[in-house]
Amino acid sequence: MHALPVFLRLESRPVLLVGGGTVALRKARFLCRARARVTVVAPAIDPALATLLEQHGGEWLRRRYRRGDLAGRDLVIAATADETVNAAVADEAAARRLPVNVVDTPALCSFTFPAIVDRDPLLVAIGTGGASPVLARAVRRRLETQLPAGFGRLARFLGDCRDRVRAAVSDESARRRLLEQLAEGPIAEQVLAGDEAGAAAAVDALLARGEAPRGEVFLIGAGPGDPDLLTFRALRLLQRGDVILYDRLVGKGILELARRDAELLYVGKRRAEHTVPQDEINRTLVELARQGKCVVRLKGGDPFVFGRGGEEMDELARAGIPFQIVPGITAANAAACYAGIPLTHRDYAQSVRFVTGHTKDGELRHRWEEFQSPTETLVFYMGLVGLPIICEQLVAHGRDPATPVALVEKATSPEQRVITGTLGTMMSVVEAEKPEPPTLIIVGDVVRLAAELGWYSPVEGRVVR
Ligand code: SAH
Repeated sequence: MHALPVFLRLESRPVLLVGGGTVALRKARFLCRARARVTVVAPAIDPALATLLEQHGGEWLRRRYRRGDLAGRDLVIAATADETVNAAVADEAAARRLPVNVVDTPALCSFTFPAIVDRDPLLVAIGTGGASPVLARAVRRRLETQLPAGFGRLARFLGDCRDRVRAAVSDESARRRLLEQLAEGPIAEQVLAGDEAGAAAAVDALLARGEAPRGEVFLIGAGPGDPDLLTFRALRLLQRGDVILYDRLVGKGILELARRDAELLYVGKRRAEHTVPQDEINRTLVELARQGKCVVRLKGGDPFVFGRGGEEMDELARAGIPFQIVPGITAANAAACYAGIPLTHRDYAQSVRFVTGHTKDGELRHRWEEFQSPTETLVFYMGLVGLPIICEQLVAHGRDPATPVALVEKATSPEQRVITGTLGTMMSVVEAEKPEPPTLIIVGDVVRLAAELGWYSPVEGRVVR
């Protein structure tokens, strides 16, 4: 983070604004909105600025800036067209350790002005550290459209409810869930629609019933790693989690989207060393939910594709815990798209099969004779260790040794690599390239298409062949 975003309370605080032109006027407007006590020092000022100062009880010192003007100020802004004056103001501010902003000169600023969306008391501040004010404004325009004007009213309403909720509900996590329910549920809609009295009555009724909110569990498919591939629903429910159980395949960028105060629990498994056995994970989910917590179980890819989501669901259903399941983009879909390999294709593949490549006691038990159709794409999950068996058995059961194979390593991450060969050559290719897990193996004629056509790689940000 290049800076710490904070909200400064400036009401009645003395602020010095050096300069009297249109730039100074813009800054003065912000300062007056924050009800600061503004002093402008400048030999001449814009008439609009003079009016503004009059309206807000500000003061104008009709002269040039002099060293010493910063005495007794809380904050200072240099907004003159004269670089030497601006630099002198910055210098005095540094000597006095006062926060200073010098317009259009990020190097001299100890703070910058963000682009803002004002739904007071709800304020959104957007900064780019001076890198691109244009981008900050573009983001602001998007947010403006998503935050209806009534959000200010909603923020005030929730502020008014807080003390009542605090008095009525002592458990912290139950209280937060209730406030979340108020902020996002039907009561919020009522406030946004203008019926604040009705909404307040609904809150009172809710508090009077005194129901302890029940815990719940969300089994969320987090996709293959790239946070961009989360669904909106996954993101929304992830941010409600008090506790988040995650495993090795869940990308760090995704965990960063959780609430700051959420508890993160690693329950990952590595091949052969099962750090947390599945039944223990199942039990933990139930226990945490029984404590009234909102529990998020983040799973790589999709929860129902080689994800043991079925077992967790089973346990939760038996224990009578409410749960939701959120689909995710499974590794096969993600790896295929990010490697430019269509899983099906009118001319090359009419079906696709997802197969586990996980070996048990060094063996892979499949009905290999079912895998011989040359027009079916095969995708092997967890197949790196079993790759020699896969290649050997497919050829032994009738697939052409020249069938193309792609191995996608760490799909969708910046380290993604695509290694290609054929059923006949893949073992030696892998020995030479030494890919690391997670890897996904795609077998079939469709693999050739990526090489022939070239495709846009989101990882590399360009078309590759
Ligand atoms: N539920 C997950 C699969 C879990 S099994 C899903 O739907 O994707 C774990 C296997 O998934 C790994 O061994 C690997 O084969 C595959 N996998 C998961 N993420 C991957 C990634 N980013 N790149 C390549 N393979 C991945």
